[in-house]
Amino acid sequence: MIDMHTHLDLYPDALKILDKVNKDNLFTLAVTTSPRAWIATSKVFEKYKNIHVSVGLHPEIVEAKANELDLLIDCIKTTNFVGEVGIDGSNRFSKSLLLQTSIFERVLQECESQNGKIISIHSRGAESTVLNLLSKYSNCGTPILHWFTGKVGELENAIELDCWFSINPAMCNTQKGLSLIAKIPKNRILPESDGPFATVKNNTIYPWEAINIVSTLEKIWQCNYTDVILQLKINLNTILEATDE
Ligand SMILES: [Zn+2]
Repeated sequence: MIDMHTHLDLYPDALKILDKVNKDNLFTLAVTTSPRAWIATSKVFEKYKNIHVSVGLHPEIVEAKANELDLLIDCIKTTNFVGEVGIDGSNRFSKSLLLQTSIFERVLQECESQNGKIISIHSRGAESTVLNLLSKYSNCGTPILHWFTGKVGELENAIELDCWFSINPAMCNTQKGLSLIAKIPKNRILPESDGPFATVKNNTIYPWEAINIVSTLEKIWQCNYTDVILQLKINLNTILEATDE
């Protein structure tokens, strides 16, 4: 029904599934990993009205793509949706941490100067740095922390900073994921697949399967399927109303 964070252009069968994604989902946000990928993907996805493409620069590849920063800033001026952006604090990417941080800061600064964007944010292992920057650029728009895996205190801080959270079926399969989801206010949650990277039992999650988080939310919120769907639709509308979409 809704997929707020998918790498739709990176599924091996992307072109074959576009019709189904467009039909099954009310709204899909296809995040991209570089502004060039955004330009190319936007052209291919253009005719699918329920699929929106956001311009990003993935923190894991900033070293290779830092030369696209100016292009990214130009592209941000022409769209409401930004992502995937953010910071990855894992050891694997420690060499680029300063570069990642400066690019993310520049992106937030631009989003703020453009009156706010919907921003899908990667924060793995760098939650406190990401949150510090979000509090510095508090008018950057609507930050959505995708697949948040930080500590409870960081989650509480993020909620205070008016962050949103996109959660996926893989998170619903871990104890930590479930305990974080239980602490997120109902009106700040949206489904995501994070496919083709996220998997459940070794199966790639497809955009129409992001909604499988509903069974978990039914238990946590203690309400039925219809109520969960209604809440998620309200959440989507709330986010979109903040832009001109
Ligand atoms: Zn992602």
